[in-house]
Amino acid sequence: MKQERVPSNVITKAVRRLLLERGVAIEDIADIVYDMQSPFTPDLTMDVCIDNVNAVLEKRELQHAILVGIELDKLAEKRQLSEPLQSLVEQDEGLFGVDETIALGAVLSFGSIAATTFGHLDKVKTGIIGVLDRAKDGRVNTFLDDLVASIAANASSRLAHRVRDEEEREKNTEKHGTI
Ligand code: MG
Repeated sequence: MKQERVPSNVITKAVRRLLLERGVAIEDIADIVYDMQSPFTPDLTMDVCIDNVNAVLEKRELQHAILVGIELDKLAEKRQLSEPLQSLVEQDEGLFGVDETIALGAVLSFGSIAATTFGHLDKVKTGIIGVLDRAKDGRVNTFLDDLVASIAANASSRLAHRVRDEEEREKNTEKHGTI
């Protein structure tokens, strides 16, 4: 039986609520974007980073990855997954890799800057990613740390492209006056 489609705004709201519920603020992700992009854009502001995080959170590929990943973390935390998946997710087993695969899948449509930034963040675990990765006391963030890296990587890529567009627009305006 075909059910009615889920409206986009319902998904967007759920994604934002889930991130907050799991201890991730938009500003935490924007901090990582600032870290990644300020060396290339010296006059970068946090507001611009926040805007870019908000913009990529509207993208369905990313939203769906976030919904799936956080759900699995939550179920693992409540010990509601079946074995052996329960143990694999709960222990953040090094060879499991599905957490990275889902998060990496969500960066593919954002171009090479997103992909390389994701690889870097996955290794270095900047800011909140490291905090999530080290969380103990029954917390399961196996998927969430990779998802945050994915959001930050996508926002970094979007920002880098926008900055270049802006620079070119300015150059054209200088050359030809208002266009
Ligand atoms: Mg992980």
